[in-house]
Amino acid sequence: MKKRKSIFLLFIMLLLIINTLLLSGADYGKGGYVLSAPVQPTTGLKFYVDYSAISKYGSSPFINAAFNWNGDYKAYVSQVVVYPASRPAEHFVIEAGPMTYNHPGETYFYTINGDLIDSNTAMDSNLIYRCSIRINSNSSVFDNPNVSNQTYLIKTIRHEIGHVFLLKHPTLPYRSIMHSGAPTSSGSVSDEVTTMDRQNLISKWGQ
Ligand SMILES: [Zn+2]
Repeated sequence: MKKRKSIFLLFIMLLLIINTLLLSGADYGKGGYVLSAPVQPTTGLKFYVDYSAISKYGSSPFINAAFNWNGDYKAYVSQVVVYPASRPAEHFVIEAGPMTYNHPGETYFYTINGDLIDSNTAMDSNLIYRCSIRINSNSSVFDNPNVSNQTYLIKTIRHEIGHVFLLKHPTLPYRSIMHSGAPTSSGSVSDEVTTMDRQNLISKWGQ
């Protein structure tokens, strides 16, 4: 009798796990940009890469990274302006700087009042007005045994732009730019935007 009870409990636990996986299957946030946001995925993301980033890493990784997201669907990157061009009025800034926990990069979301939205809930927030991306200025974070530092840097910029599109870290190990960590030539962590990433982009923003 006792054994039967534990098997039943195990079965219930399995059902709960499967349910959690299915519910978290959408690897993009439920959030959105407020209507008045000056830069939005479906009207084209615009980025300004500032002096801190250019002086550290040059302009080519940023330009190289950004447009890889584009395809035959609604959400896209429309413009990347790099220092020394002056900063245009309506752009999201990409900068380089020191970072807590030594992450390779981070994306920050702000309300219309300029308040930082809690990173745990940001991509489910409907109050997003502006984003900014920070790339770690400590270039040793890109040291890794798998690929060149430049490839990991470009992967990181692409990954952070994915967050600006409100894409989350995938819950399943399919090949994606949105997994954390250094990319590999095979396996789940990609250095390029994959078919699955584009599918998530279409599911979130439309064909
Ligand atoms: Zn991430």
